[in-house]
Amino acid sequence: MTSTAPLLLWFRQDLRIADNPALRHAMDSERPVLPLFILDDKTPGAWAPGGASRWWLHHSLAALSARIDELGGTLLLRRGKAEEVLPQVIEESGAEAITWNRCYEPFAVARDKRLKSELKDGGIEVSSHNAALLHEPWTIETGQGGPYKVYTPFWKALKAKEVPEPYPDARKVDFAKAPKGDSLEDWDLPPTKPDWAGGLRDTWTPGEAGAKQRLSDFLEERIGDYGRARDYPGESGTSGLSPHLHWGEIGPRQVWQAVLHHVDRKGRGETAAWKFLSELGWREFSHHLLYHWPELPETSWKENFQGFPWNDDEKALRAWQRGRTGYPIVDAGMRELYATGWMHNRVRMITGSFLVKDLLIAWQQGEAWFWDTLVDADLANNAAGWQWIAGSGADAAPFFRIFNPVTQSKRFDPKGTYLRKWIPELAELPDAHIHEPWAAPQEVL
Ligand code: FAD
Repeated sequence: MTSTAPLLLWFRQDLRIADNPALRHAMDSERPVLPLFILDDKTPGAWAPGGASRWWLHHSLAALSARIDELGGTLLLRRGKAEEVLPQVIEESGAEAITWNRCYEPFAVARDKRLKSELKDGGIEVSSHNAALLHEPWTIETGQGGPYKVYTPFWKALKAKEVPEPYPDARKVDFAKAPKGDSLEDWDLPPTKPDWAGGLRDTWTPGEAGAKQRLSDFLEERIGDYGRARDYPGESGTSGLSPHLHWGEIGPRQVWQAVLHHVDRKGRGETAAWKFLSELGWREFSHHLLYHWPELPETSWKENFQGFPWNDDEKALRAWQRGRTGYPIVDAGMRELYATGWMHNRVRMITGSFLVKDLLIAWQQGEAWFWDTLVDADLANNAAGWQWIAGSGADAAPFFRIFNPVTQSKRFDPKGTYLRKWIPELAELPDAHIHEPWAAPQEVL
């Protein structure tokens, strides 16, 4: 028998309609569906969304709301601690069931576990699903039964598991009438005084449609050359999908299957496609690490790094953050980050190495700055990326590997295209001198 009491569909980092397992569950339940998003910036503590993420979230929620409107429903917005908001909404709406897609941040895992048991005790049906990963972090285990600490065997194990085809797009949903909610505008998520988001607006289209467009542009125009072009920050050789994946506007299963179907259709490009898929593998590995080592964002994974005597140098940190170190490739990366909310992966490694291994500033400081300024700020990828760079993480770059900012710049931006874009004051220097202007002869300067 179907029930007329609503089912709450709690959106979190799965801001999409297509291939959304919780939505699919909601539709199968045959209950009227009440979609809800809670702005909970209390539970995550220090990891509440940073400035760039808040900008993204605003636009992504606007896009999701519009999509739900088109389907005949209303996205209910509420602000507060999820543990307080959910019982209120359940009471107001008479809901008897709730469903969500899982998050893997330690605070979210702990909160969801508590909530699940409290709600069940209160007679509410609860179901949770996987929308964010190819495979749940606990389903990939070593032969001995524990988590992986090294990427290559992890990737081998991941590749051996089948990735399901995405669910077909939802066309008709029976929505419940929503109680009164907040207005998105009242949440003041985008910056206003000052409005520093101009570069973000020029670069990104948050939301499910923007994510689909990015993926199809990447498949049509760039994936074939990904294996080479992905290392050159002056070319747009990568997908730019990271913020869309973080907010779940597109799922990794959709991306994975779209890439394989594309290769099948074209009958070529398999090597580049697998290189790209292996980057999705790094995303899975980072989530695997965070799930099994929840202290990853705060504490060096290798114990012998935990007492490292880092420099406490505010002035140097500030120069790095603002792109004023004097090293062109470092400054270009930090300025790209500040202007667009994104930085090329090669340059993330160079700027990260410079902070940690040249300035000897703790990786956690770099992680915090990236957290605030990246539109793709992601607790698992960011923590794993910083620990990789520092040499303190699982399967990390060795501590003695220092990215030389001049040789990296010459090798990966030989014509200075990237440098000229982000450091206009160097634009007129010839290619031979732009990577290390301090060594240029006086007459050239
Ligand atoms: P593509 O090359 O097109 O790759 C496709 C997808 O694979 C990406 O969207 C991303 O989801 C995933 N991916 C690619 N490289 C990595 C990687 N090294 N680790 C984990 N996943 C990866 N990525 C984030 O999404 N959020 C972060 O907060 C973040 N912080 C980082 C911090 C440091 C210090 C470093 C070195 C890397 C960090 N990365 C982070 C990983 C990587 O730089 C970005 O995912 C990538 O640059 C995003 O661009 P793209 O979507 O064009 O990538």
